[in-house]
Amino acid sequence: MTASPLWHPYAQMHTQPPALKVIGGKGAHFTLDNGESLLDATCSWWCMIHGYSHPRLVAAIKSQADSLCHVMLGGLTHEPADRLANALVRITPTGLNHVFFSDSGSVGMEVAMKMAVQYQVQKGHPEKHRLLSLMRAYHGDTSGCMAVCDPEEGMHSLFSGYLPRHHFAPAPTAPFDAPRSAVEDDIQALRRVLEAHHHEIAALLMEPLLQAAGGLNMTSPHYVRAARELCDEFDVLLIFDEVATGFGRTGKLFAAEHAGVTPDIMVLSKGLTGGYLGHAATLATDRVYDVFLSDDPARAFMHGPTFMGNPLACRVALESLAVFEEERYLEKITMLNEILRQELLEDPDLHAHPDVEDVRVLGAAAVIEVYDSTSLKGAQAFARQHGVWLRPFGRWLYTMPAYITTPDEMRRITGVMKEWFRIETH
Ligand SMILES: *Cc1c(COP(=O)(O)O)cnc(C)c1O
Repeated sequence: MTASPLWHPYAQMHTQPPALKVIGGKGAHFTLDNGESLLDATCSWWCMIHGYSHPRLVAAIKSQADSLCHVMLGGLTHEPADRLANALVRITPTGLNHVFFSDSGSVGMEVAMKMAVQYQVQKGHPEKHRLLSLMRAYHGDTSGCMAVCDPEEGMHSLFSGYLPRHHFAPAPTAPFDAPRSAVEDDIQALRRVLEAHHHEIAALLMEPLLQAAGGLNMTSPHYVRAARELCDEFDVLLIFDEVATGFGRTGKLFAAEHAGVTPDIMVLSKGLTGGYLGHAATLATDRVYDVFLSDDPARAFMHGPTFMGNPLACRVALESLAVFEEERYLEKITMLNEILRQELLEDPDLHAHPDVEDVRVLGAAAVIEVYDSTSLKGAQAFARQHGVWLRPFGRWLYTMPAYITTPDEMRRITGVMKEWFRIETH
């Protein structure tokens, strides 16, 4: 067999077994070329929130393809982009009134960071050109994003000599349901970094409530609220990266809603199109947008990805939102959350297992964290034998299922996750 020229992500091509070949999918399952059907516990890096082959999403793409597949947004506009921008303003926290499209989560974050730095320059603060991020953060794989990912665990330490230097505050440690007093240490740690460095910080970036790729690290809405207050106190913009948390993952449409907070800039991607096409949106408040208004063309926001506002992506995003609202997805997410809590959080045997350090659940996301990553070696192959696609990373065995996952399917996923610890021998 000749090796495929296809270079896979995060893969040691020398040692990794050949990738499984997917030929189709329906609902929460995808199908391999050998006829095997796998229940996807990860909904393809958390984006396929409606599952595979959703008839309404597929139809939306087909009908849009018949009229307009692509046109640039430079000097031109079209109905899908206008409608999606309006829809996003309607559903996101009050005050985010302006929408800049791009083609992926990483680029959406690049747009947010560039916007924040230019905002500060045009406000007369060119010295505020660094960013403040959190340890355990993940904001994407492009250079600008790598520089605000966790510098040690974020897969990017190799590039530290190449990347710009930013500031980092400790990752919050208080859990989602912690009382305010238990979050005080996390908040004070953030305050200390701002006190020391605010004069050179343009913006604080965070994945509100759920640091997803950082190991599904969860925090309290009190922390998010305090971050808003601290940013106002120190004249620093607040950027929410809701690429993973947006569109229901934490149990509300956006994680920001748990805290009742409007960030200055917010980034959406992954679930935006229901995963059917790559796209992202960077939203900004009037406060940010107005600083770019001037008679001077040089004060405009100088950015413009070729595929921003792609009509197919906008059209399928509109359909995704319509399905989300009409089919009451937030109720489906509540149902999935109840099962995840019952089956994982409230399982005493799982907590008592010597390899298990912690079990966390928030919305339609759950993780079993182990002390040592070697205890998850073989878990993926084990799950496959049971018809489930799990893709643990580091010390984290997790599920972030499609919202159309049925109760039985959800229990099959949690069953396999628990069964791994029952059969496992060390
Ligand atoms: C996936 C992700 C990104 C990057 O999105 P891409 O579309 O892969 O570039 C950024 N931030 C968060 C929180 C993510 O989960």
